Amino acid sequence: MLQPVINATGVLLHTNMGRAPFGADAAASYSNLELDLGTGQRGSRQSAVGALFARMCGAEAAIVVNNCAAAVTLSLAGLAAGRGVAVSRSELVEIGGGFRVPEVLEQSGATLVEVGTTNRTRRADYDKAVASEHDVAVVLKVHQSNYKIIGFTEDVPVRDLGGVGVPVLADIGSGLLDAACPWLDGPPPLWLNDEPAARQTIADGADLIMFSGDKLLGGPQAGIIAGRADLVARCAKHPLARAFRPGGLVLSQLQQLALTYLDRRGNDISFWRMASMSIDELTDRANAVVATAGTAAVVDTMAVPGGGTLPGVEIPSVGVAIPGDHLDALRLGGPRPIIARVDDGTTLLDLRTVDPRDDDVVGSAIASVVS
Ligand SMILES: *Cc1c(COP(=O)(O)O)cnc(C)c1O
Repeated sequence: MLQPVINATGVLLHTNMGRAPFGADAAASYSNLELDLGTGQRGSRQSAVGALFARMCGAEAAIVVNNCAAAVTLSLAGLAAGRGVAVSRSELVEIGGGFRVPEVLEQSGATLVEVGTTNRTRRADYDKAVASEHDVAVVLKVHQSNYKIIGFTEDVPVRDLGGVGVPVLADIGSGLLDAACPWLDGPPPLWLNDEPAARQTIADGADLIMFSGDKLLGGPQAGIIAGRADLVARCAKHPLARAFRPGGLVLSQLQQLALTYLDRRGNDISFWRMASMSIDELTDRANAVVATAGTAAVVDTMAVPGGGTLPGVEIPSVGVAIPGDHLDALRLGGPRPIIARVDDGTTLLDLRTVDPRDDDVVGSAIASVVS
């Protein structure tokens, strides 16, 4: 049975627990999903939400599909089937759960044209690929997401691919909308490092970008394709678009999320509220949990973004610690499973990923497992 659990692991985007903490209240009712209220005629389920995402990304157009894997597959099928796709050898990645760039590319009916080397790819390598006999239809840039190449490396950012002669597609994966994070009160968090953002990638000249809905965007599982209107239209009319289209529930939740971003209410987005909670606030909460539990210690911890994003990045956090391994008791006890972690013989519950409304439940659970 699908049921709510309390994530006390400190992994903000935990794949096993549905990645972004998106509270969907599943109100089922009629909607104008494919009805144009202006004309009374059949409309497109994509137009309202697509327009909002296009605006947020600074793009001409956008459509929504089921996930980023579908977004990449559809983009390549729509723009490069039967032709070549130029990809740097350093970006032929596996993202996890079977998303492997060479295989996705093959499924879309395109052929891979490898560019550069594993550690160094230059602009001249792309020019050579486009000029080759491989009939290159597009250049595909793929965010390395879950790994890093360090040392003697060189790579070509989207902004240096201008004039390459074919559309430049960028799978940015994580779905950070804007590097400036205007929806937050303060400056962008340091842990974002140089994560590629949708708005900046479009501004740098990408013709089409693809990203996930349930990573740094903080929404439900979805994939967004945004960019030049003619390219988005070609993807939208490919037969696979129908197979990959999202349901009304996802679209209405994404619409709500988009309006929250446009209103700059970052605190109303669970992921951003959790990710940006201050250490002071977390410490106050940890003290309250310890008071409820009647035992346990407040400890400094390190949370992580997770979800295959930002490898090596840690976010300072605060949790509570109890001696011994209590993982099973916390997970199997009531009223709700609590997923914690064990470090060096100590059970750690990181409060960054716990909704403050669940703090009492966490405190009582600790009291019952230690008694
Ligand atoms: C996560 C990721 C994907 C897959 O996204 P899903 O929404 O899980 O399908 C694809 N590409 C990149 C670069 C990613 O980071």
